[in-house]
Amino acid sequence: MGLEGYRDAELTEKIVKLISKVDLPHKIKIMHVCGTHENSIGRFGIRSILPEHIELVAGPGCPVCVCPASDIDIAIEIALQEEVILATFGDMIRVPAKINTDKDKPNSSLQTAKSRGADVKIIYSPLDALKLAEKNPDKRVVFFSVGFETTAAGVASILYNNPPPNFSILSSHRLIPPPMELLLGIGDIQIDGFMLPGHVTTVIGMNPFKIFPEAYLMPTVAAGFEPVDILSAILNIAEQIKEEKASLVNQYTRAVKEDGNQKAISIMNDVFEEVSAYWRGIGRIPRSGLKLKEKYSKWDANRVFDTAHKSLCAGFDIHPSCSCHLIMAGKIYPPDCTLFSKKICNPDNPFGPCMVSIDGTCRIWHRYEGKT
Ligand code: SF4
Repeated sequence: MGLEGYRDAELTEKIVKLISKVDLPHKIKIMHVCGTHENSIGRFGIRSILPEHIELVAGPGCPVCVCPASDIDIAIEIALQEEVILATFGDMIRVPAKINTDKDKPNSSLQTAKSRGADVKIIYSPLDALKLAEKNPDKRVVFFSVGFETTAAGVASILYNNPPPNFSILSSHRLIPPPMELLLGIGDIQIDGFMLPGHVTTVIGMNPFKIFPEAYLMPTVAAGFEPVDILSAILNIAEQIKEEKASLVNQYTRAVKEDGNQKAISIMNDVFEEVSAYWRGIGRIPRSGLKLKEKYSKWDANRVFDTAHKSLCAGFDIHPSCSCHLIMAGKIYPPDCTLFSKKICNPDNPFGPCMVSIDGTCRIWHRYEGKT
């Protein structure tokens, strides 16, 4: 089926009817953990066509939103040093570092560091950062690297191929399965099924998600990003719940292999080790972050600039008036935050991280005017 087929209105309607006919024992809540899924859900108005007894919530699927203030503090500290070019994705520039609750003192960010003289460059892929290093041999080029498994695979490939010595990585990579497991332990969230992110499963495959049906009896389905993909995954989860089953299902077979991309996994395992990591608004999660292994330490910005000891989170990560932590845990929706889309929090003037990034749930809901 071509891409258009996955947007076919007749097929979409047919799947929605099938979903409505599933005789569920109770209202169910399905969580996805992917900004691209939330964007598709908003763009195609998927929530509005689902029956009332099926709720679709966004989990912590935005890597920019979960990047802790302490990592941004370190990036700023490095960016302000002599002969440094700090390269990062555009969204990272405006994310606040440690939150300042004093209204008269603006929060620091990479944008404010730029105004203090830091050479911060926006790039679109890890390869752009590598090119910057190659073009500027007299500068120290640091890639502030934020993202889940998909981005980490590309970064690992660069390091594996012996980049120039003036290049380094400030890794703020996070892994998707650990926070999913953490959320299942929070009693008042009550998730009934997981929709897995297509990009991440393309890289790591289905195996790391086996734990959810096997240990937590949680229907878990990998989905692509078109309406037919998302609705088919919802139908599959609903049917599993009705039949009291819990299986791991790959509904995105045109992109995802059961074992993922073995070459990418092998390179990632060679370059990175799993470490306990802090998630903004959520807290420290065991084995949820990626650090460069010892043999790659000459490209580890934390080693090069001696900042590793500073990577503990201190101070406010989320402003007390911002509810991003509740939104990223799937407890509330953006319109439940009293600051949503008012003068005080909108994409031009974001108050919290979820309004900054294009993958942030608040920003997506703002774009689709809350009609997601
Ligand atoms: S609307 Fe703004 S203040 Fe409210 S949760 Fe979202 S980002 Fe935070």
